[in-house]
Amino acid sequence: MYLHCQAERPYEACGLLSGRNGRAETIWRMANIDKSPVSFSMDLEQLQSVFHAIRARGERLVAVYHSHPTAPPVPSSEDIAFFSYPEAAYIIVSLTRKHPAFACYQIRERIVTPQKVSFY
Ligand SMILES: [Zn+2]
Repeated sequence: MYLHCQAERPYEACGLLSGRNGRAETIWRMANIDKSPVSFSMDLEQLQSVFHAIRARGERLVAVYHSHPTAPPVPSSEDIAFFSYPEAAYIIVSLTRKHPAFACYQIRERIVTPQKVSFY
């Protein structure tokens, strides 16, 4: 995920994580069709084919991630307004420092709740 976010600089990177039982096992790098350093949009056709592939693997969407190349890992007002997967975690990777930092949130009905993430 970090590598993808670094590679897309100076633009925002975006992608999906899928897995089972809330545990991410697969990363899906998505195209940011905005090609913007301050926003991202995913391509609908690519989303459809990725969701199809996730189902075919017997997995579910666990998280949606995107990067903030020049901002802290805090959701912008657009991030909150346009997030449409309330069942998934919302991960933001910030690239403002030497080492990438990330934060994870749950966004439901525009209410943002920080989430804990653990690595295995
Ligand atoms: Zn954002």
